[in-house]
Formats: sequence, structure tokens, C-alpha cells
Amino acid sequence: MIVGIDLGTTNSLIAAFGKDKPVLIQNAVGDFLTPSAVHNNRKNGILVGQAALDLLTTEPQNTAARFKRRMGTNGVLQIGRDQFLPEELSAFVLKSLKADAEKELGETIEDAVISVPAYFNDIQRKATIAAAQIAGFNVRRLINEPTAAALAYGLHAKENESTFLVVDLGGGTFDVTILEMFSGVMEVRASAGDAFLGGEDFTDCICSYFLKSLGYEEDGLPNADHARLRALAEKIKQQLSSSPTANGVFVREGTEYPLTISRTLFEELTEKLTRRIRLPIQRAISDAQLTPAQIDRIILVGGATRMPVISNLMTKLFKRFPEFDLNPDHVVALGAAVQAGLLERHKALEEMVMTDVCPFTLGHDISRILSGPNDLETGIFAPLIERNTTVPVSRSHIITPLRPGGRHLAIDIYQGEAPYVKDNIKIGSYNVPIPYNPKECENVDIRFTYDTSGVLEVLGTVVSTGVVSKLIIERTPGQMSPQEIKQRFTALERIKIHPRDEIKNAALIARLNAEYENTLGQQRQSISDWLVTFEIALKTHDKREIEAARKAVEEHLQFLSGSNAFE
Ligand code: AMP
Repeated sequence: MIVGIDLGTTNSLIAAFGKDKPVLIQNAVGDFLTPSAVHNNRKNGILVGQAALDLLTTEPQNTAARFKRRMGTNGVLQIGRDQFLPEELSAFVLKSLKADAEKELGETIEDAVISVPAYFNDIQRKATIAAAQIAGFNVRRLINEPTAAALAYGLHAKENESTFLVVDLGGGTFDVTILEMFSGVMEVRASAGDAFLGGEDFTDCICSYFLKSLGYEEDGLPNADHARLRALAEKIKQQLSSSPTANGVFVREGTEYPLTISRTLFEELTEKLTRRIRLPIQRAISDAQLTPAQIDRIILVGGATRMPVISNLMTKLFKRFPEFDLNPDHVVALGAAVQAGLLERHKALEEMVMTDVCPFTLGHDISRILSGPNDLETGIFAPLIERNTTVPVSRSHIITPLRPGGRHLAIDIYQGEAPYVKDNIKIGSYNVPIPYNPKECENVDIRFTYDTSGVLEVLGTVVSTGVVSKLIIERTPGQMSPQEIKQRFTALERIKIHPRDEIKNAALIARLNAEYENTLGQQRQSISDWLVTFEIALKTHDKREIEAARKAVEEHLQFLSGSNAFE
């Protein structure tokens, strides 16, 4: 069976195509959403999900989150006594989802469709594939997140013909995609986005505002305190989606600091971010050669679209209300499972066809001779595949070296929309071997092939000899070689992972510890009492006793959060 995975900045989900529709799979604590957080404790092993997220506030030095933003950057993260690449941390999350699916479906799962932000570049896509391989997955396809969301909506749609705009604001990325649907065919017309804009940036704005109000510099708080303040900012941001003001209490060194913010102020503080949302929408509409009035439906995807400022902006731009029919947290994973069903040629999806586009322009650098052989204009971008071309696509053109007598033709591959390569993203360097010819320049045919997963392959053919070289990447920073992936896979196999059937208990202890740090006085005492009660129950190793204690603690925590004791 092929599963569909939404590997998110904040949360990740796994789903499979059931009898006639996609179905989400629960994790070990019974949730569909697994926070993309990893805790490294050598004694108890690696812990993934909600427990790790709670430990982020009490043990930030041993815990990591939001590492999707660093995929493909080469940046190593120190977590506890060990160092990990962002790909390895994502691999832990993927491994945990894999275990959930295997438990639920009762079979070994290897094949997966994994969603990525449409605006993820080639390096980030390859990093996602590497993470999946390290986790033991065989990636059958990468699917763009808004396309996945549209697939889920397409299956769910009532009418057969419509043009819709999917706005996907997740934790770390922003994508906008325009699709046309007619008689079961879903065609992506255009995609645009910002790979470095997401809900987390809105949380950072609240966190900075609180730091300032408390009289601290941006990095003026110790890590653990900063992590708690940020978690509070996150909670307050979510409250602001349903109420005009929100407040909370920050506890530090035995003192309570009440904090409050209104939605109006929040929207003022984040105005710069909101402005960045408009540009990709305008670009997608113009690339699709449409006007706002021609968009029939607006679909909001990603947790951060719950902020009223986003739906208000859409209503203002398109003069109609966006739709929220499917849960914005679930829809990408559901769509990835529909794509998995399509790959499996599932009977229920016989009528459905999907086409996607390459959301950005791909090309390489060239130099131009100006007045003479030594007067060169270098670093010019030569596009080969233009943005919003339907994929898969293969395009080639011939390039001529500047002078004869060389043994190699060196080209750098870039992605972007700027006329000079310095303003675009470099995704690889290549050297095409050419036969030595002191008299004439040897022409080379350069071919780019962009597949349905959005992964690029580059071939160079020497025109005079017909010799083809599959161009070898000259170590772009952030890219892992197949040997490295294999090594990391083996290394990860040896790392101790927290036993799945004990995750519920670990999660509860993490939550109690986090709440303990966040409270004072009587509430703190009661949390401490519950913690002790639960630890005693754990020591009995009696499943029924542990279960009963866990239920009692969970009810108590529910009661406390219901009575706003933590606000
Ligand atoms: P996703 O990547 O789709 O899981 O989206 C995660 C982002 O959605 C995070 O930045 C969350 O803070 C944000 N988010 C989730 N729920 C809400 C809410 N109720 N209001 C505002 N933002 C939210």
C-alpha cells in the first residue's frame, strides 16, 4: 500500500486511500496531528510528537522543532549531546508516522507520496526525498501541498466545472495555486509562493512584542524562558483567531507577568507579513491569464489561514467568502492519500486525472561577449523551463563555449525569476566533458527534465560526438549523496527510539512538567501532586493501574485548562 504524508513545519500527518476515500491514521496518542518536534534523551531514546513539543519548553537544549525550514541547508542542529541534520530530524518524524500506519494497517509500509510546499526549491525537494529514504521510505511521488489540497477538494466537489484558488499558509511556507477542474480532470494553471513565510513568523511577531514589553532584547532571555514565552505567544496567536483580545501569564523566576494583546495590534504588528501574501496571489492570477472575477472558489489550507486577517484579505480581493469545507489541517494529507490512490490505480479514482506545473523558472548562467573576447558580461540567467509549464517537461538548447580549446564546459543551474543569476537560487554546478578541439568551439546540448515530483535532471550532449553525460552534481551545499543517505539510514537504525506503547505516558509527563513550569502557587502544587501520583502508578508496571492514573491526570488537566487556570 502507498501512504500519503503531509510533512509539515508544525505538524505532520499520514493517511491512506481506503475503500472510496482517503482516511487519516491516528498516532500513538490517538491524534491525527503529530507535532513535527523531536526530543533526544539518550536514556529513553528519541521521542517524537506532542511529548517532544511539550519538552521544548522544559528542555529546549534536548529538543528541536520547525526544522523543515532548514531542510537542504547543511545546517547541523545540536540536540542534547548529539548533532543531527534537518533531514535526520524529519526522518524521525517520518519513522514515527510509518510506525503509526504499520500498526493501523497491519502491514509493512514502504511506499509513500509526500507533500512539499509548491515553492520548495530543488534542493529542499531532494532533502525531503533524502529524509524519507533515511526513514526507510521509497518516495513514489512528491506532491505540491496546494495541489494535494485541491485533489482532496476535487474528490469532495459538488460541481464538475470550476476554477479555484488554493491559498496555503502553513507553519513555515506560503503557496498559492490556481486550478481548473473539468470532467474529472484537474489542471494546475499556475503556482506561486514564498518558501520563507508562514504562521511561525506571525508567532515570532507576538513573541518579539512581548519581549519588548517585558524590557528584554530579542535574545535577552535564557533558552528555556524564551521557549516558554514563545509557546505562550503561539497560544495567544491562536486565541486571537476567535476573540478580539487574548491574554496569558508568563512565569519567570517565581514571578507572574500578565501579558495581553488585541487583534488590532497583532494585525498592525504583522502588516509587513500580510503584505507579502498579496504578491504571489497577483502573480498566480496573471500567470494563469485570469482576472479575480474568474475565480469561482477560494479554498483556505494550512493552520495559519485560521487567522481572520487571511480570510478578510481574500474576501476583499475576490469579493467572495473563502471555503473551509474540509479541515485545513487535514486536507493536504488527505490529498496526498488521493495521489497515492491514483498511483495505485484505485478503482474509485478511475475518472480522475491530475496535472501540475513547475512553479518557478529553471535555467543556467551564461556569459555574453560584448566588444571583444575579453569584454564579457557574466552571470546572465538563461531560462530553459519557464515557470508554470505543465510537468513532466523536458527542454533543451545548445550552448557554445566562449572560446575553443577547452576540455570542460562549466554551467551553474539556477531557479528564480531574476535576470541575473546572483539574485536567483543556485541549485547545482555541472561540468560537461568536451573533446579537445583547438580550432573550433564544441557545442553542447543542455537538456533539463523536470519530473512530476518536481525534481530536476540535467543532461549534456556534445553535439559533434553525440556523447551524453548525465551531469554530476558538484556538491551543492545542502545536498546529500546516495552514500551519505545510506550511512545516515544505518546510523538511524541504531538510535534508540522511545517505545511506541509508552508514548502516551511520556507525553503526559512532558505535559505535566510544562504546566508545572507555567504555573505558581496552588495550581503548581496540584500539578506536582498529580505528577508524583502518576510516577508511582508507572512504577507498578500494572497496565490497568497506569491507564486509570493517566485518565485521572488527563481529566484534571482538562478541568484546569477548561477553567482557564493556565490563561
Ligand atoms: P500547518 O503547517 O498547516 O500545520 O500550520 C501550522 C501553522 O498554523 C502554525 O503556524 C500554527 O500556529 C498555525 N495555526 C494553527 N491553528 C491556528 C489558529 N487557530 N489561529 C492562527 N494560527 C493557527
